[in-house]
Amino acid sequence: MQPNFIEYDTNYSYSGQLGAVWSKEKTVFRMWSPAANEVRVNIYNEGNDGERISVIPMLCINGLWEAEVQGDLSGKYYTYTVRIGFIERETIDIYARSAGVNGIRGMIFDPASTCPKGWEKSSPVKLEKYTDAIIYELHVRDFSADESGSFKFRGKFKAFTEKNVKNTAGDTIGLDYLADLGITHIHLLPVADYFTVDESDNKPQYNWGYDPLNYNIPEGSYSTDPYDGLVRVKEFKELILAAHKKGIGVVMDVVYNHTYLTMDSPFNKSFPGYYYRQTYDGYFSNGSGCGNEFASEREMARKFIIDSLCYLAQEYKLDGFRFDLMGLIDIDTLNMAAEKLKEINPSIILYGEGWTGGASPLEESRRAVKSNTYKLPDYAMFSDDFRDTVKGNVFSDQSKGYINGADQQLEWKMKSVLCAGVRHPQIHYGHNWTDSPCQVVNYVEAHDNLTFHDKLRLSMPTASMEDLIHIDKLGAALVFFSQGIPFIQAGQEFLRSKPVPHCGFDHNSYASPDSVNSLKWNRLTEFRQLADYYKGLIAVRKKFPELRMASGDDIRKFINFTDLGGGAFIARMRSVVLAVNPTWQDREIIATGYIYADGEQASDTPLRECDGRTVCKSRSILLVAEE
Ligand code: CA
Repeated sequence: MQPNFIEYDTNYSYSGQLGAVWSKEKTVFRMWSPAANEVRVNIYNEGNDGERISVIPMLCINGLWEAEVQGDLSGKYYTYTVRIGFIERETIDIYARSAGVNGIRGMIFDPASTCPKGWEKSSPVKLEKYTDAIIYELHVRDFSADESGSFKFRGKFKAFTEKNVKNTAGDTIGLDYLADLGITHIHLLPVADYFTVDESDNKPQYNWGYDPLNYNIPEGSYSTDPYDGLVRVKEFKELILAAHKKGIGVVMDVVYNHTYLTMDSPFNKSFPGYYYRQTYDGYFSNGSGCGNEFASEREMARKFIIDSLCYLAQEYKLDGFRFDLMGLIDIDTLNMAAEKLKEINPSIILYGEGWTGGASPLEESRRAVKSNTYKLPDYAMFSDDFRDTVKGNVFSDQSKGYINGADQQLEWKMKSVLCAGVRHPQIHYGHNWTDSPCQVVNYVEAHDNLTFHDKLRLSMPTASMEDLIHIDKLGAALVFFSQGIPFIQAGQEFLRSKPVPHCGFDHNSYASPDSVNSLKWNRLTEFRQLADYYKGLIAVRKKFPELRMASGDDIRKFINFTDLGGGAFIARMRSVVLAVNPTWQDREIIATGYIYADGEQASDTPLRECDGRTVCKSRSILLVAEE
C-alpha cells in the first residue's frame, strides 16, 4: 500500500522559519517531524570529532520541535537525535547552512562573519529578458585543476578570484578570460554539499556533484578548509563577488529531484518516507534513476525547496538556478518559488531539464516537463530538439544532424529550432512546445554526453581537423544566432575533448579523473582562432536585438525565410539577414549592408561591406546587417 502522508500536510504543516536561528543572545532550533517521539539538539565544538558538549531536549507542538539556547553559539556545530519508536538516529539538520567536514554536523554562525570585503557592493547582474543571457556551463574543479593553468588554488572556489592567471603559452585565462569572452552568466555544476567526494582526503577525487547531501551548504572540497564551516561559505561568496565585479552572473545548478542517500539521508532520518515519493506498493519510486525522488508536492517538502532557493538567492546574491531533472518537480512548487525569487532578484533566470530520469508516480499534468512549459511562464527548458537537430542524436555516436551531413532533410527542423520552436507561418513541421523564445535554452554541448567536438569527430570519421573546426563554427553560429537562450559548455570554444586512453571518448564523465574532465587551457592557444570566433559571435548577438527577440509574436512578425536549395536558407530578421548553408556548394545571395559574420570570422564591427550579390560559403553562415 502507498503510505498516506496527506494527513500530515493537512494537520501538521508549519509555515514559519525552520533551522537554527542565531543571534548573539540566543539560538532557536526548530525542526519539523510529526513522526518523532523525541528530538534532542546535540551541540559540539567541532564539525566531526569530539564529544558533544551539551544535549538540549526539544519540545513538540503539533509536529514542530523547538528548543532555545541562551548565549552566543556562533562557531558551534549541532545535530538532532530523532527517536521514532525505539529507534534513535542522529542527523544533520536539513536546514543547516554550513557544516564541518563531509556535512555530518551543521554549523551555527553569524552570517555577517562570512562576508568577504566589498560584499555589500556585490549585486546580481541586471537582465532585461532571458534571451539577453549567454550562459557558460562550468565545473568548479575543471576550471583550475589542469597544470596548463597558473592557478594557485587548484580545484577551489578561490581560483575564480585569482588575477593574471596564464596558461603555459602566456595567454590570459581564468575569470579575466571569461569576462573578455563576453558571456553574461557562469552556470556552475552543483556546488551544494554532495556526498561522494571525501572532503577529509586530499587525494585527487572527482564528481560532477549530482549526488546531493545538504542543499543549503556549499561543497567542502571546493573550500580551502572543509573542517571550518565558515570558510566554505565565505569562499563561495568570494567567487560570486569576483564574478559580479566583472559583470558576470552566477547560476547554481540545483538537484532537488533526489538525494544521494535514501534510507540514511538526513530527510529520511528526520521523517521516514515523507520527503520521497512511493510506488503503489510502498517502495521508493525512482523517477530520477538514482534510487529515489523528492516528493516536492508534499507541503513541507515543497516548503523546503522554496525556503532553500530563497535562502541561497538572498544570502549568496545569486543570478539564477538551473534545475536538474526539473520534470520531477511539480509545477506549483516551481511557480511559487519563482514568485518569491523574482521578489528577491527581478533579473533572476530560472531554467532546467524538462524531463525525468525514469517513471514517476507524479501525474504527467503536474510535471515541469517540456510539454507543460506553458504552465511555467518564468522557466526556460533545455532544447534537446535544438541539440539533436543541429548535430545528431546524443544516443548514437554516428548519428548526424543538420550541420554534419544528415541523410534526411532537416531543414524544417532547423528553421523551427532557429525560431525557438514557436509556431511560424512558414514552418509546417517543427518542435512546438512553447510560444516564447525566453523559455528555450539552445545548446550543442553540455556536461552530459559527448562534447560537441568529440561528437563531430565520431560522426564524421574521415573529416580533417580543419574540416571539424569549420563545422564547429557553423554549429556555434547557430547556437548564438538562433532565437532563445544560448548555452555553451566551458572549453567548447577551444574544442573541448574528453578522450579516454584506448576507449574513445567519455560520454558520461561524472566521476572520471581530472585528466578527462579538466579544462586544458593550452588548447585556448592552440585553437585561438576558434575561441575568437565564439567571442565574435557573442559580440554580434549582443549588438543586434533581432537575434534576441522576446516573444513568439515578434518571431512570426519579423522573421521571414527564403529557401536556397539543398537545405540552405536565408532568415531575414528586420534589418539583419542570416544565410545558413549546410551544403557542399557555395550559395549566392543578394543583400546590402555590412557583413558581421561569415564562416571564418565574426565581429561587432563590420568585416566588410556588401552591395548586392555576395556569397555564403559552403557549410557556413553569413550575417549581413544594414548598418
Ligand atoms: Ca561534500
